[in-house]
Amino acid sequence: MAPAYRGRFAPSPTGLLHAGSLVAALASWLDARVHGGCWLVRIEDIDTPRCVAGAGEAILGQLAACGLTPDEPPWWQHTRGDAYGRALQQLRAAGRAYDCGCTRSDIDAVLAAAGRGHQRFGERVYPGTCRSGLHGRPPRAVRLRLEGRVEWLDRRLGAQHQDLTADVGDIVLKRADGLWAYQLAVVVDDAAQGITDVVRGEDLADNTARQIALQRALGVPTPRYLHTPLVLAADGHKLSKQNGAVPLDLREPQEALAQAGRALGLHLPPAATGAEWLAAAVTAWAGIIAGFPPAPLEGTR
Ligand code: GLU
Repeated sequence: MAPAYRGRFAPSPTGLLHAGSLVAALASWLDARVHGGCWLVRIEDIDTPRCVAGAGEAILGQLAACGLTPDEPPWWQHTRGDAYGRALQQLRAAGRAYDCGCTRSDIDAVLAAAGRGHQRFGERVYPGTCRSGLHGRPPRAVRLRLEGRVEWLDRRLGAQHQDLTADVGDIVLKRADGLWAYQLAVVVDDAAQGITDVVRGEDLADNTARQIALQRALGVPTPRYLHTPLVLAADGHKLSKQNGAVPLDLREPQEALAQAGRALGLHLPPAATGAEWLAAAVTAWAGIIAGFPPAPLEGTR
């Protein structure tokens, strides 16, 4: 029997929620409700230089003001270092994780010499230099050996694939500054929280193949994935703090919810209360997901 639905919203507390991030929060909540499941919130506060003091608590307050309250106490990733350390040990023991002594300029020099220059979005496909050892340099980061092609099914976008060898390369699990990388933390915590369904913004879709590869390396289940449409700013880019997203105005939570709902294709009349609006949205969301591409019952698990 498939495990009972468990979903989550996993904001990074780099600022308050804005119109774009509420879309992912609302979609993950609605999807959990439609499936009679459990909805969790995880504050992803491991990238400490980017975190804003108090933002995690403030986000929980914003969610509560919108009527989105988690079914279990929120998890905070800064308390989870031991679990990430154990996962790293497991990957090392399996020969999947290795120390890397390369600086960015070392990597750029190797890529340039191979005629591969700078990659799209400034992402460097690691050339594998330290797979065979540190070459006398001190260790900096820890990397995961990643190769092959991953195919997966997105509940909204349909069949997806990525060639990890050509387009991603060996990813960082622990950064040179000693901080845990997002990919390791998210995979370890999704597994530890028994997440069956990840519902998040489409800007994160590109991480899915590497997360699935990491799940396989750790021997944990792969959740189903649904990536939601992005809210675009006036400049046509994803709405973010950098291009003018303002924190949600919570004097009007129903208006904020209605706007997030429209991004998801929910066009609902105003309701007397936020709770009534949410109840109508659950029914409407069931209709929206019924129109998604047909998927095998077991998803990608
Ligand atoms: N913490 C990530 C972010 O805010 C999202 C992680 C996820 O949903 O997988 O961009």
